[in-house]
Amino acid sequence: LKIQDYRPQPFIDFTKAENVQAYEAALKKVRAELVGKHYPMVIDGERVDTAEKLTSLNPCDTSEVVGTTAKATIEDAERALQGAWKAFETWKTWDMDARARILLKASAKLKERRLEACALMSIEVGKNYAEADVEVAEAIDFLEYYARSAMKYSGFGSSETTWFEGEENGLMSLPLGVGVSISPWNFPCAIFVGMLAAPIVVGNCVIAKPAEDSGLIAGFIADIMYEAGLPAGVLQFLPGVGKDVGEYLTTHAKTRFITFTGSRAVGLHINEVAAKVQPGQKWIKKVVLELGGKDGMIVDETADLEVAITAAVQGAFGFNGQKCSAMSRLIVVDAVYDDVVNGFVERAGKLKMGTGEENANVTAVVNQMSFDKIKGYLELAPQEGKVLLGGEAPGECNGKQGYYIQATIVGDVKRDARMAQEEIFGPVISVIRAKDWQDALDIANSTEYGLTGGVCSRDRARLEQARQELEVGNLYFNRKITGAIVGVQPFGGYNMSGTDSKAGGPDYLAYFMQLKTVTERW
Ligand code: NAP
Repeated sequence: LKIQDYRPQPFIDFTKAENVQAYEAALKKVRAELVGKHYPMVIDGERVDTAEKLTSLNPCDTSEVVGTTAKATIEDAERALQGAWKAFETWKTWDMDARARILLKASAKLKERRLEACALMSIEVGKNYAEADVEVAEAIDFLEYYARSAMKYSGFGSSETTWFEGEENGLMSLPLGVGVSISPWNFPCAIFVGMLAAPIVVGNCVIAKPAEDSGLIAGFIADIMYEAGLPAGVLQFLPGVGKDVGEYLTTHAKTRFITFTGSRAVGLHINEVAAKVQPGQKWIKKVVLELGGKDGMIVDETADLEVAITAAVQGAFGFNGQKCSAMSRLIVVDAVYDDVVNGFVERAGKLKMGTGEENANVTAVVNQMSFDKIKGYLELAPQEGKVLLGGEAPGECNGKQGYYIQATIVGDVKRDARMAQEEIFGPVISVIRAKDWQDALDIANSTEYGLTGGVCSRDRARLEQARQELEVGNLYFNRKITGAIVGVQPFGGYNMSGTDSKAGGPDYLAYFMQLKTVTERW
């Protein structure tokens, strides 16, 4: 298979009028063709429906039903698992190039429908144009990158072993079997596709359970994978309820691996139930967990404050702070605290609230549960700091009822306050005052999470110290702390942020393989 070297997708430039018009046309097309659609499950290549359905609402206008999906039952999950094991018998024998080719074809199809995928996310989860576009670019990148990564594992002896006279030695990379991929709603296109494509390309079969709030974009992506030629049973599309079919599959004896991206609480629960060996189980389940964050960015007195303020606004409020990588703590040394905070509040105050379709800066958060949870933190805010911006949860915008929360900045929050420790997952930022640089570093590390972090400073020695000591999986200097690009910034956190598997990194596929060393004496 001959292909070009991997290059990340460029982003669409929405300062150009023609690109905005193309986006608006895609929104119309999606409204005409996809809104209101129903996605059944796909088990063993067949579309199967359920009596009950899951409904996906437009968070920016909750009077609108975006569409529905099937709601898998335990019996459906069981059938999907059995069918996937049957499909595995053949799929594992395909060569790497042949499997990689399907990902490349899917990528080509997604490129053709890029704006449709974007528009669907604007409506289903409230992403504005740029946020939706970088996500679909990431989805394409995952397909392209994992296809190429898989090809490196082709053939016997693809991993290096040392020559030994009189013998042939080699390492074979084998797929694990059938696994479950459970994904969140916040990157419902990129994470959904990345978490199924990686295990599949190296020969595993996957049951993909999307989040309830983003079933339509998941159905759209699953269809692209089928159109690209995935054989029946290799990808079982199983929309359903996490506590129900998710729980059933993660505890099941016949589940070989689990790849999960979502909250710390659910991730730790999965880790626990997956560790318990069930009757008839003949392996130790492999569990890959990508969890939450309480990501901090430090600004010291040597920083370019304009750079720092831009980084803070982008990192904090992109997609309303609903990113695991979002800057939820701004840690500023006392000497520049007032300048940074004033600039941050002023810039954030200009953000427009509205719908994803209107390309607003701040849109509605995803669902009632999120809205209620974030509102709880808004009530806590005056006790834990000074509310400098926002602080309200209007629940409507321009006459549309939706889960709207104002961009909120809370100053002088203590490092151990709840708002400084708990993942809020919304547009609510805690600013923490540090005595000096060393204090700022200590504050940054005073969380159990370790996903992303950043430093804005011009002091070389401090940057080098942070490089060593900041406990995060993705560290950024003098820029925003969100927006990792596949292959460029392999992504994932440690400590309570997950197993640090580094999605979009050179070793990611290894999580979904087992190695066999074979020795033949001549
Ligand atoms: P979530 O509530 O943990 O849900 C994630 C997925 O798990 C959903 O598909 C959910 O299904 C399912 N689930 C729920 N309970 C389950 C159970 N008992 N067994 C099996 N599956 C279960 O997280 P979310 O609200 O969708 O996503 C936001 C979280 O994801 C944040 O904490 C964020 O930081 C994290 N995140 C991390 C990364 C990363 O790379 N580290 C990336 C993105 C997001 P239902 O939808 O049916 O509940």
